[in-house]
Amino acid sequence: MYSSTVDFIKQLYPNKDFIPLHEPKFAGNEKKYLNDCIDSTFVSSVGKYVDIFEKQFAKKVGTKYAIATINGTSALHITLLLADVKKDDEVITQPLTFVATCNAISYCGAKPIFIDVDLDTMGLSPKSLKEFLKENCEIIDNKCINKTTGKIIKACVPMHTFGHPCKIDKIQKICKKWKITLAEDSAESLGSFYKNKHTGTFGKLGVFSFNGNKIITSGGGGVIVTNNKKLAAEAKHLTTTSKIPHQWNYSHDKIGYNYRMPNLNASLLVAQLEQLDNFLKSKKELAKRYDKFFKNNNIKFIKQPKNSNSNYWLQSIMLKNKQQRDIFLKYTNKNGVMTRPIWSLMNQLDMFKDCQCGELKNSKYLEQRVVNIPSSMT
Ligand SMILES: *Cc1c(COP(=O)(O)O)cnc(C)c1O
Repeated sequence: MYSSTVDFIKQLYPNKDFIPLHEPKFAGNEKKYLNDCIDSTFVSSVGKYVDIFEKQFAKKVGTKYAIATINGTSALHITLLLADVKKDDEVITQPLTFVATCNAISYCGAKPIFIDVDLDTMGLSPKSLKEFLKENCEIIDNKCINKTTGKIIKACVPMHTFGHPCKIDKIQKICKKWKITLAEDSAESLGSFYKNKHTGTFGKLGVFSFNGNKIITSGGGGVIVTNNKKLAAEAKHLTTTSKIPHQWNYSHDKIGYNYRMPNLNASLLVAQLEQLDNFLKSKKELAKRYDKFFKNNNIKFIKQPKNSNSNYWLQSIMLKNKQQRDIFLKYTNKNGVMTRPIWSLMNQLDMFKDCQCGELKNSKYLEQRVVNIPSSMT
């Protein structure tokens, strides 16, 4: 039944025995910059490529500051600390996300609260968020208090699933009203815009990842973006072991983290960033071809939601039900085409089982039906 899909994907990626979900592409100055970096001996946490990358990245997404980190998870961790998330606080996020979002919340000693996603964006639903807050919370002393637990909801971390922007302007308004700091997990959405503004720049802080499977990669890496000068300085300080800058003295003024991106990784990343526009073109072209094919084959291809320009990082389809999804996954993976279901819902994982949830109807619906298909740049 899904043999025509396998044939189509094999024809998109010819001469391959096995087609992975997402391969990085190194077609530019990667080797040149890497060699230059090695020759300079500045391969670690100090070096010109980190500085170049931070400048160029901030310019690309349109923020004043960017702070490079060793991975996206550490960027999320620091972001939440900067949002003043502390032990016994609570942070709202969506159940349909990669586990890193919730791990970072846990590193702060806080607990996630899971609110449903929208069907059209697969990202946090402003409507569900608003309803949850109205029903469960009150503002006391400028803080959002969860009446069920008596705890403070400090931050809200929506995620732009597979690069498709969620309704972030509405979420921004709700957070403002309820005194909740907005921080975006835009790990998957570099190159994605909502109403012509780059994702990750609506919140007080935003986070991107450069893991090997993301749209551009530094092997491992991440970045925090913000327009707030003080937060940017604090992010740099915390990620560099809170060392007090001095030419020779070694002193630290608080517990810091060794989260700075090495120059070696940054050299790779600078070369990758130069190719981002080409990668985006390739992804959009691929989405067009998939859309046309699946239309003719009665399978729903997931397109960018309204008001957005998506990077189409991971291309995805929606099967009719769980049974069809399982047949599809089995058939494609058996025949050399890697496909993968969307994540298990976070509230079902052992470590987050006892977290508070809103009604999660849409998340449950999507969990059973959404599948990622090969998405490498062609
Ligand atoms: C990739 C990703 C991250 C960060 O992952 P790292 O591997 O630590 O860079 C965080 N959140 C989401 C949603 C992701 O997809």
